[in-house]
Amino acid sequence: MQESNKLEKIISLCKRRGFVFPGSEIYGGLAGTWDYGPLGLMLKNNIKNSWWKRFVEERDDMYGVDAAILMNSHVWEVTGHISGFHDPLVECKKCHKRFRADHLSGDKCPDCGGELTEEKHFNMMFKTNAGPVDDTASKVYLRPETAQGMFVNFKNIIDSFHPKLPFGMAQIGKAFRNEITPKDFTFRSREFEQMEIEYFIKPPKKEEEWQKEFENWRKEVKNWIVELGIAEKSMHELDVPQNKLAHYSKKTVDFEYDFPFGRNELCGLAYRTDFDLKNHKLDYYDEETKERFMPHVIEPSFGLDRLVLALLAEAYNEDELGGEKRVYLKLKPSLAPVKVAVFPLLKNKLELVEKAKKVWRTIQSTTDGLVMFDDNGNIGKRYRRQDEIGTPFCVTIDFDTLENDTVTVRDRDTGKQERVKVGELASLIKKNINK
Ligand code: ATP
Repeated sequence: MQESNKLEKIISLCKRRGFVFPGSEIYGGLAGTWDYGPLGLMLKNNIKNSWWKRFVEERDDMYGVDAAILMNSHVWEVTGHISGFHDPLVECKKCHKRFRADHLSGDKCPDCGGELTEEKHFNMMFKTNAGPVDDTASKVYLRPETAQGMFVNFKNIIDSFHPKLPFGMAQIGKAFRNEITPKDFTFRSREFEQMEIEYFIKPPKKEEEWQKEFENWRKEVKNWIVELGIAEKSMHELDVPQNKLAHYSKKTVDFEYDFPFGRNELCGLAYRTDFDLKNHKLDYYDEETKERFMPHVIEPSFGLDRLVLALLAEAYNEDELGGEKRVYLKLKPSLAPVKVAVFPLLKNKLELVEKAKKVWRTIQSTTDGLVMFDDNGNIGKRYRRQDEIGTPFCVTIDFDTLENDTVTVRDRDTGKQERVKVGELASLIKKNINK
């Protein structure tokens, strides 16, 4: 499969089957915005839940927050975002299209070959006003990263929980960046979701001290992504060169993925030093040593939309089954939006439909996740539809079910079916969908 072709196929599948739709579509869309439909939403939730479980619930040193998106403008003044969070913008003098200068390979307009203007700094934060008066004093920004929502709550966490160092804060939420050229489906959007951790450590006396924590997080990040189902060979760690580091970072590793449109950043890991706490004038009192100091920070930062896209690219498969071409999403069962689909063999046989509804109810009540009932179209079509959305198991109720209370369970990847007693379905499904 040609890689550029693959992206088109994924976009089309996402729209057709209810994963992701273009934002404000009926009004011609709004560039850089995407709406997640029922299946995309569930895939996203499954990834979020896995992240939260791994990095918050399974640890004893993490504190979750859900901070406001609108924050006092002083936050962005002291962090340097108002003065420094910009991309280099150039405009074509002929067709007046605008581009990010650092994304261009030549010095001419990639669309019409026209001459380009000098680079200008373009601040990427969205502005709005809080309250009824539209003046400078009421100006606020939509947060361009979730990180600051954690730093501004640092003192609250210390006062409520008295954590010992090292400890971390975690947040999942929306971030907004007025990207000059949103592109590559959801990869570069203007509104997206981040999952970030700020991990506070004692100010290091030697380089090795922060490097050790950094290396721990490097492994943690990679292991979790690989466990989600991203092939190790498609992931690459890039040590960002000094001259390309963000203004707050002393070291950054970008975890890149071979997307269908090329190798690009999936998530990042940065050593932010005491940059943020210093700017916010926040410190920590160590009860044991009776010292007051500013902790340093290691920040793993994950982009949820990019993870969804990478997982879709990884899972997208085409093969031939029973002499027919098919598309299937080989998602891990624990991530699949629909866990099980239940079908009556025929729609117009009342006994089959009634029995199938009963089986659906039983499975639904014992399964963690969505169980879908489908009686639309012939059985082959129903299997194909579920393959295309990555449903790991299809359960079919047929005439034998009425005789001996057994059903067929079909495996998505192999298409193989086995007969199972209805009473054994719940435990069989439970055992397999947590994988
Ligand atoms: P890029 O270089 O691709 O613009 P970045 O280095 O500016 O990304 P960070 O500031 O490190 O990104 O943000 C952390 C994570 O947030 C990224 O690794 C990415 O997954 C996600 N992210 C950043 N910008 C976008 C965007 N415009 N659309 C979707 N996800 C994004």
